[in-house]
Amino acid sequence: MRIIFLCMIVFMQSHIVFADNDISGKESPEKNVTNTSWNLSDIYANWDQWNADLTEVKQLMEDIKTYQGRLNTNPKVFIELMQKEEQLSKKFGRVFRYPYFMRQLNSLDQETSAKMQEIRAMYAEYATATSWISPEILDIPRGTMEKWIETHAELEPYAFNLMNSYRLQEHVLTADKEKLMSHFSRPMGTASSVYDELYVSDIQFPEITLSTGKKVKLSHANYTKLLETLSSQEDRKLVFESYYKIYKDHENTYAAIYKGICEKDNAYAKARGYKGTLEAKLEGNNIPTAVYESLIKTAYDNVGPLHKYMELRKQVMELDELHTYDLSTKFTDYNREYDFTEAVGMVKEAVKPLGEDYLAYLNEATKGGWIDVYEKPNKTSGAFSANVYGVHPYILLNWNKSLNHVFTLAHELGHSMHSIYSNNNQPYATHSYTIFVAEVASTFNEHLLLDNLIEQAEKPEERIALLQQAIENIWGTFYIQSLYADYEYQVHKRVENGQPVTAGVLNKIMGDLYNHYYGEAVTPDELTSVKWSRVPHFYGMPYYVYQYATSFSASSELFSRYKNGSKKEQQTTIEKYKTLLKSGGNDFPVNQLKKAGVDLTSTKPFEAVVAQMDYYVNELEKELKKL
Ligand SMILES: [Zn+2]
Repeated sequence: MRIIFLCMIVFMQSHIVFADNDISGKESPEKNVTNTSWNLSDIYANWDQWNADLTEVKQLMEDIKTYQGRLNTNPKVFIELMQKEEQLSKKFGRVFRYPYFMRQLNSLDQETSAKMQEIRAMYAEYATATSWISPEILDIPRGTMEKWIETHAELEPYAFNLMNSYRLQEHVLTADKEKLMSHFSRPMGTASSVYDELYVSDIQFPEITLSTGKKVKLSHANYTKLLETLSSQEDRKLVFESYYKIYKDHENTYAAIYKGICEKDNAYAKARGYKGTLEAKLEGNNIPTAVYESLIKTAYDNVGPLHKYMELRKQVMELDELHTYDLSTKFTDYNREYDFTEAVGMVKEAVKPLGEDYLAYLNEATKGGWIDVYEKPNKTSGAFSANVYGVHPYILLNWNKSLNHVFTLAHELGHSMHSIYSNNNQPYATHSYTIFVAEVASTFNEHLLLDNLIEQAEKPEERIALLQQAIENIWGTFYIQSLYADYEYQVHKRVENGQPVTAGVLNKIMGDLYNHYYGEAVTPDELTSVKWSRVPHFYGMPYYVYQYATSFSASSELFSRYKNGSKKEQQTTIEKYKTLLKSGGNDFPVNQLKKAGVDLTSTKPFEAVVAQMDYYVNELEKELKKL
């Protein structure tokens, strides 16, 4: 799950990004892979080339201004504008990513920082230079546009996005009302920024003393690690209680902020003619609300395998009472280290079922220059894949040799391969994909890798470690995100119905959900109920987290079909899956997935995850008996 959250952050920024190679003169710790640093000269050989493109960007922005007020005159003018805008967008993306990537590698590089400032100023100009285009397009009657598209092949690549903007037009208000709304756009963000200040800037974590006498200052970052590694239940309890006390002490403030955010979203939805916040949030990608409701219901109704896992954990840990803070420890101390080259080999082996073309792209991506592998001073933490149109995708890692990072590599390569297939098969206008389908491509690779490793594992300890990883993936990505989605749904509905929202109400909703999901094996802790206060997505991106669960479900169903199918079914599944990879953003996500054979409007994908969870928990039970 951690991996997915990181990825999401990158996707949000992905229209902006790229990397440098001159910090990479250091010797690579591994000899088999020739270059473990980004080769940024694939984008520009030097700053002179970058400057030349920047000049062209400025020229294109000037050219585009000359079309203002003329779009509805005739289709030829309109086509010219669309093509100019496309050129500008391509070039701007490339110009932006070069310094941006350099910054990812060294945040303290002064020259890059100056270039970044230049590019940010340019972005503001870019936004102004193109802001008139959408409203002016929507002034052209829909019927006229349909006729233009029908009779001019040059407009074909833009057809989907053009018609989609007409679909969303229904919720655009008249000019005077839009102006009125615009005065409120900044104050609408107040509650969310208050949350950030409270959660990040003003938070004061205490220092605690563990049973060994060791003193530890708690933080967001070390909280999870401590719960994973502390062997004493008393210590884990201390960490948990000290951490959540900070939230509990401010629960009324957090509740007031959250209520403000829900009310703001409700007001916005109503002003734009939506039934409610859920409808407004799902409209952009045209996701039916039934998908959301079906996810939370199916997960809620199928917690059996998760309960069984908790019971198993309680037995293995030999605890009288199993608490929330006991759920992160590892069952075995299996702790193998993986070199990067070895990990690349493992991923290549695992993705073989995807065919020779997939493997060829993967070989290209891992031959050197596309992946910045190792930690460096002042390099961005975490991992991501970011595409540079017309060049190739780039992956950033901070390799620590863990099994987790082998999965991160498979995950990010999944995104990169998706980009390559979409770049090669879509026109520019529809080459980029939504996060909704993106996380299918990344998690499908994780499924393949995990399955391959479990099959090959020889020792029970290794199989247990892998099965635990598999189970925790499903627990964190499917069950917990569905639980969160359910929580958001209940609270937003209360706000829409004018019912009170207080810390007590939020604690009750969250507490009941956790009790239901975890079952009787886990002893309820009062502090678990206040978890709603520490999930930043609820405050910054309401109704967002469900996508982790839906994407994971879609890839689970595809994987189950591949794994359990006949030779012929396997072949069809892989072909359809690759059609999805090739489809970029050429349709709405639910339609794209339907073409790949996954119907998110049914409960089948969600049931596929539950079946997988059940399988892994049973396998784990068998392996544990062998110890
Ligand atoms: Zn991802």
